[in-house]
Amino acid sequence: MKKKIFTVLVLALAAACTFTSCAKKPEPKKAKYVFYFISDGTGVNTVQGAEYYVAQCQGVMGRAPLCMTSLPVFGVSATWSASSDVTDSAASGTALACGEKTYNSAIGLKTDSLTEVYSIAKRAHEAGYPVGIGTSVPLNHATPACFYAHAVVRKQYFDIAKQIYTSGFDFFGGACIHVEDKNNTPENQQLLADLAKENGYTVTYGLKQYAEQGKNADKIIMLQDPDVPDVYSLPYWIDRKPGQVTIVDQLRAEIDFLYKKSEEKGGKGFFLMNEIGGKVDFGCHANDAAAAFEEVLAVDSCVRVAYEFYKAHPDETLIVLTADHETGGLTLGRQATGYKISTNLLKSQKLSKDESTRHFQSLRDANNNKVSWEQVKQMLTDDFGFWDTVELTADEEKKLQEVYQKSFKGTMQKEKSLYSENEQMAATAVRILDGKAGLGWTTGGHTAGLVPVYACGAGQELFIPHNDNAQIPQNIAKAMGLEW
Ligand SMILES: [Zn+2]
Repeated sequence: MKKKIFTVLVLALAAACTFTSCAKKPEPKKAKYVFYFISDGTGVNTVQGAEYYVAQCQGVMGRAPLCMTSLPVFGVSATWSASSDVTDSAASGTALACGEKTYNSAIGLKTDSLTEVYSIAKRAHEAGYPVGIGTSVPLNHATPACFYAHAVVRKQYFDIAKQIYTSGFDFFGGACIHVEDKNNTPENQQLLADLAKENGYTVTYGLKQYAEQGKNADKIIMLQDPDVPDVYSLPYWIDRKPGQVTIVDQLRAEIDFLYKKSEEKGGKGFFLMNEIGGKVDFGCHANDAAAAFEEVLAVDSCVRVAYEFYKAHPDETLIVLTADHETGGLTLGRQATGYKISTNLLKSQKLSKDESTRHFQSLRDANNNKVSWEQVKQMLTDDFGFWDTVELTADEEKKLQEVYQKSFKGTMQKEKSLYSENEQMAATAVRILDGKAGLGWTTGGHTAGLVPVYACGAGQELFIPHNDNAQIPQNIAKAMGLEW
C-alpha cells in the first residue's frame, strides 16, 4: 500500500513538473529588431543626477525614475582601453562596436594600428539586416565611426567620411559630416558628393528636405540644416527650437526607414545604433550640469520611443543602452553645500553655456561692444534666474562683477573647453549655479568611472552582470544569433 502511494506521488510530481519548471523550455526568441544606444559621456552618476534633477524640480526628495532606469536589466560596465585606464571615445567606440580593446584614438583597429576589426553593424549588414547609424554629433566623430570605419587616428575626419559611403549601410543620421581644415577644399567636398552618388546615397539637410526626398530613398544620409547656430552638433535639448532636427526626430526617422526596409525584405528585422547621448558628453566636457541633465532627458525620450516599438514587437526586440565612458567627474555633493544638493536650482538656467555665449555675443554686437553692468545683470536674470529665482551671496555677485570688468571692460579671453569657447560671463554663471546646486566637476575630460548598461527584450539576460565594454557587441551578436 505504501509503495502504491509513493508511486502515485512520484507520478503526480512528474506530471506537475511537465507543466511547470521541469518542462523543456521553449527556445528563447532571437533579437530581430536591435536598438543599440550609446549615451556618450554618461556615468551612473550622470543618470542619477538627472533623476534627482527631475524629482527636485517636482519638489520631491530622491529620484524620479526615468524610462531607461526602469528597463528590466541594469548592469554596469568598465571602460578602460588598451592604452589607458581612462579611455577616449575612439578606443571605447572600437570596444563597443568591434569587441576589441585598442589604444586611445584608434578607430576599428587592433593595437598594432594595422589589423582591422569589424563591427556588429558590419556583421549585421553582411547577414542581410538593414543597418542604421545615428548620432547627435558629426557622423564621422569617433563613436559612430567605429561602426563603419578604420583609422589610425580619430581626427582623420576626411578619410573616415569617405568610408561612410562605401559601408553600404542603409541609414545614416547625424549633425554634419565634418572635414578637418587642411582637407576642407572644394575638390574634396566634390569627391564626397561623387562618392554619395556612386554609392546610391541621397543626402538631405533638415526635416523638410528629409520628408520630401529622404523617406523613400534607397539609402539615406540625414543631416541638419547648415544654417543652425552650431552645425557641428544637433542643438542641446535645452536649446532646441521648433523646426530644428532633434535626436528624437532623427531616431524616429531611423526606425521608420529601417522598418520599411525590413518589411521589403519580408520582415528580416534591423540593426540600429544611435549615439543618442552625443551631447551629454559635450555638456559634461563643458561642465554644464543643466545642459547635461536635460540631455539625459533627451536620451530618455529616445529610449521611450524604442520602448514603444518594443511593446509592439516584444518577443523580437532588444534594446541595449550603455555609455562609452563618464565625462567630467561629476559629483553629487560638495563640501561647501554640506549634505545637500539642490538640483532644482538648475531649472532657472534656461539655456546651455553655448547658447548663453551667443546671447552675450548678441548683446555685444547690438551695443557696439559697450555693454553696461545693468545690461549684463538683466541677461543673467533672464537666462539664469539670478536675483530672481536664484538668490546670490555678496561673494557671488562680486565674482560676477569682477568677470564683467575683465571680459567686458578688459581683454579677458573666452574660456575654452573641448568642444566650445564660451563667454567668461556664461561660464561663471554656470559655475556659480552648479556650485549652489551642490554639484562638482573634477575635469573637463573623461574619467574611468563605471557606466550603466540597461537592457530590455530578447537576450536581455546577457547584460545582467558586470559587463566589459568589449563584451557588449559580442553579446548583441549572440542575442541576434550572429556568428562572432
Ligand atoms: Zn568626450
